[in-house]
Amino acid sequence: AVWVSEIMLQQTQVATVIDYYNRWMQKWPTLQALAQASLEEVNELWAGLGYYSRGKRLQEAARKVVSELAGRMPRTAEDLQKLLPGVGRYTAGAIASISYGQATGVVDGNVIRVLCRLRCIGADSSSPAVIDRLWDMANVLVDRSRPGDFNQALMELGATVCVPKAPLCGECPVKQHCQAWRRKLFGNPPKVPDVEDCGVGDCPLCPPATEPWDSSLGVTNFPRKAAKKPPRAMRTATCVLERRGCHGALEYLIVQRPSSGLLAGLWEFPSLPLAQDLQEEREREELADHLQAWMGRPVAAKGLRFIGEVIHIFSHIHQTYVVYSLPLDGDVTLDPALSPSRWVTEDEFHASAVSTAMKKV
Ligand code: SF4
Repeated sequence: AVWVSEIMLQQTQVATVIDYYNRWMQKWPTLQALAQASLEEVNELWAGLGYYSRGKRLQEAARKVVSELAGRMPRTAEDLQKLLPGVGRYTAGAIASISYGQATGVVDGNVIRVLCRLRCIGADSSSPAVIDRLWDMANVLVDRSRPGDFNQALMELGATVCVPKAPLCGECPVKQHCQAWRRKLFGNPPKVPDVEDCGVGDCPLCPPATEPWDSSLGVTNFPRKAAKKPPRAMRTATCVLERRGCHGALEYLIVQRPSSGLLAGLWEFPSLPLAQDLQEEREREELADHLQAWMGRPVAAKGLRFIGEVIHIFSHIHQTYVVYSLPLDGDVTLDPALSPSRWVTEDEFHASAVSTAMKKV
């Protein structure tokens, strides 16, 4: 349960996760049950939660524990990280400390913020030197008798008190240890070099000389991050092919994506990535050619009805779907040599392993 919740909570908010978590634990309450699930079932349950490789890796790891480790979960952070796909340093530390009582620290986004403020660490908080130092600190600080509670308390402190924009320093239970707070109240913290002189040497933890302490920011001078790269812009043409099924209900064609890469193994309306800056007419022609391969007969570009554009932000991609529809008369024989495809009603579509972006489409 701790493992599943930790994986689901990566990059995803608690409120979103709760329903998925409950359904998952009800469906696969044990490692053995999860090991027997199919990837399609996992993708269906995960649909809408994003970062789909997480579900796939959870299931692969469950299979590995059952088939290669005699059904016994690794119990230390080192082994968890080494042996289980999808379990990184943070998740391994969280499972080992919360589930198995190992006195090992964790560093997540909340812990980074708290520790950088506690020690006035002003270098880029994603740099290897800072990250290594934060792990060392977390491993030293962790309570030896209640490591799981300590780690959760530290993360909770970051989530509720030492929050990014307006931290509640006056109510903070560790304020007497906090150098950023002292710096804000009294100027320089004692026994450390003047932060304004920092960055002159080679200290990999201090703020760079070009970005000294800004007193208007107070404790929120820390942590500091390198500027994020803007997401890559992509355009994809997608077509909702519809037909009347044998019971008269409308049906839509969905096709399966490749088993690796973005949205691996999920289902979508037939789609085609487009070069940037194509004229609309050209986009239509390219989509018509692409659909022709699916349908085994010519598709007139003029017959495609433009519906609108849908924007969806993936973590690193700003995706614009250019949406068309095409009602079909008569049956279409799908080529079995192409990717798997099927006709679904609207209800079946929503129960399938489709991404949030496709639901928007
Ligand atoms: Fe964070 Fe303020 Fe507490 Fe320091 S005193 S740890 S900055 S909330």
